[in-house]
Amino acid sequence: MRQDAVHLLAIARVLSLRDFTPDPRRLQLKKLRAMVAHTWRHHEAYARWWRQHGCDPVPIRGWDDFSRLPVIGKMHFRELAAGEHLAANYRTRDLLQHLTSGSTGIPFRVERTVFEDRRLGAYRLRERFLAGLRPGDLRVSLKSGMMSYEGGRKSYEHPPWMKWGLFRRVGLNHIALGPEGVLRKLRELRPNALGGHADAMFRLCLESPPGALGDLRLKFVSAGVQTVTPDMYQRFCDAFGCPVYVTYGVSEFNLVSTQCAHTGLHHLNEEGLIVEVLKDGRPARDGEHGEVVATNLDVYSMPFIRYAIDDWATMGPDRCPCGRPVRTLREIQGRVAELFHFSGGRKIHPLQLINPLLAFVGWMREYRVVQTARDRVEIWFDTLRGAPEDAVAQVEDAVGAKAPAGVRVQALRRAIPPLPERGKNKMFQSLGPEEPVRA
Ligand SMILES: [Zn+2]
Repeated sequence: MRQDAVHLLAIARVLSLRDFTPDPRRLQLKKLRAMVAHTWRHHEAYARWWRQHGCDPVPIRGWDDFSRLPVIGKMHFRELAAGEHLAANYRTRDLLQHLTSGSTGIPFRVERTVFEDRRLGAYRLRERFLAGLRPGDLRVSLKSGMMSYEGGRKSYEHPPWMKWGLFRRVGLNHIALGPEGVLRKLRELRPNALGGHADAMFRLCLESPPGALGDLRLKFVSAGVQTVTPDMYQRFCDAFGCPVYVTYGVSEFNLVSTQCAHTGLHHLNEEGLIVEVLKDGRPARDGEHGEVVATNLDVYSMPFIRYAIDDWATMGPDRCPCGRPVRTLREIQGRVAELFHFSGGRKIHPLQLINPLLAFVGWMREYRVVQTARDRVEIWFDTLRGAPEDAVAQVEDAVGAKAPAGVRVQALRRAIPPLPERGKNKMFQSLGPEEPVRA
């Protein structure tokens, strides 16, 4: 109970930051100094990576010192020995775990304290409040089940304040329910706001009767996780008849950016993260695209410092013309989801085939799900140490159980081709539909 009160205070503190830090770069530098100093002292693997790149454990004086730290990626973490991903004085059993298939086809486990997790969640919640949400409102988020929580923390999804009628949120698994089921639940629940996977909303828009979504009278819709194309964005606006915001979040950081209601640019979460867009290793200028590299300023247990997210984005102006003192992105690329289309017009969400692979996070190094013929899917994967002898059979069984009848699933243990520089879909490749999709 006392802990819940502390968490509620943490949320309230972030929510109370209505007036944004006038100089977020200064705040970032202050938080960064503390983060880097703690990491040098308590995180052996980071200290090792940094020393290998010629860095010394001296305090960060300015942005030049920061940019000398090496960029690391998911693979750096995947190749660590057990427990090495955490700072000393943190233990897995005390932490909340997010399992994710990511957007890159590398299964990954992200850990942090519940307090740190709530704090990251609060940045997202604040954006919802700025968009018009009130403490007593109900939000529904459409989820894929791609991200699951571990560690027996049932209270996490239903914290006590929801029983008090505050910050209520209900998650719906859109893959299990399908568009019709989602619409039925929305009519029952009558939420004030809807969020979640853009591709789930897109299907909802395609398959709901005219006017049905507008009748929900939502305050706003926030669409995230996958890229929202201009065509999708227009359909959302037409179907829901309310403001639509694109949010960009990843498991390692939670909220990365939120779309500005006035300019369409994406406001970076400057108070919680340092986001860099790097073009050939140097900061991209306005209009240039590059690799997204981010630093988490609030999580000390499993720090992410100059970490490549494996997404591409186009840098925007240093300050949004709407007046908010934050740097911006113009566009987020590389996260477009597609459906798998099988014979007879059957279609499924790619995550239906990808989610079972999360069970193998301990030994599966990387995977691709490739539709090689209309009713044939291949799972390419390679392994880390400790993979079972019957890995191929296990993968085939797990994915085969989720594939539609008559679709052949074959697992192949093989080298994974490198990622395309700006691949649309990195972890799966699907064939298009046999006939044009119903508009
Ligand atoms: Zn703005």
